[in-house]
Amino acid sequence: RPLLSSSSVAVRAAATEAAPTPAEETFTYQAEVDRLMDIIVNSLYSNREVFLRELVSNASDALDKARFLAVTDPSIMAGREELEIRISADKDKGTLTIEDSGVGMSREQLLSNLGTIARSGTRKFMEAMAAKGDSNLIGQFGVGFYSAFLVADRVRVQSKAPEDSKQWLWEAAAGSHQYTIREDPVSDLVRGTRITLFLKEDAAEMTDPVRITRLIKQYSQFIAFPIKVYSPKK
Ligand code: ADP
Ligand code: MG
Repeated sequence: RPLLSSSSVAVRAAATEAAPTPAEETFTYQAEVDRLMDIIVNSLYSNREVFLRELVSNASDALDKARFLAVTDPSIMAGREELEIRISADKDKGTLTIEDSGVGMSREQLLSNLGTIARSGTRKFMEAMAAKGDSNLIGQFGVGFYSAFLVADRVRVQSKAPEDSKQWLWEAAAGSHQYTIREDPVSDLVRGTRITLFLKEDAAEMTDPVRITRLIKQYSQFIAFPIKVYSPKK
């Protein structure tokens, strides 16, 4: 009897002392996403720098949405007035980060936008890709986000939407059929999305600010928001 009660005390103590790490949930991609990623990775290897155009274009879309929402609800801009895109690289860590102060994604939006394909054009896209393998089809059919895996082993998305009180962390590894979502322990964004690419070893040149700037000029010259490129720390 004394043993029993002492062990139950020990269990209760462990439960209250445990660090409050937010629970991580694992999800499986819709099968179409797996197929799509295979097609992207197999068809675009020699044109893989398109990933930057796709992520910048998503950032720009999110900034457009924030600007539009602010017309009827100016409070959306509170604490973060600038609508901009920041790109920074860390050569030592082998990471490239694309951050926007756009509309962000709630947990529900992360689940529905990154992990499933809701658009009816995707089947046509896959057929067109199988036939032609033309990188421009990616932007045209709107499947751009997954092109991040052309250069990244692992992709982390941190996002804060005005309608969700919490910041969320989405993460997935290249070639995996799964991704995870949890409450972001960092929770530093006022609004918007930060995408961190953990670069493949053979994509390390993507941390070069000269290279990044050249790609931005080449592919993203018509983006209507400031794009600030920060040099890696020396
Ligand atoms: P598309 O841009 O054609 O919709 P993507 O695969 O590029 O397709 O992106 C999928 C979806 O993910 C977008 O429609 C958007 O809802 C969401 N998304 C991606 N990047 C961002 C971002 N930076 N901010 C907010 N939402 C984003
Ligand atoms: Mg896109």
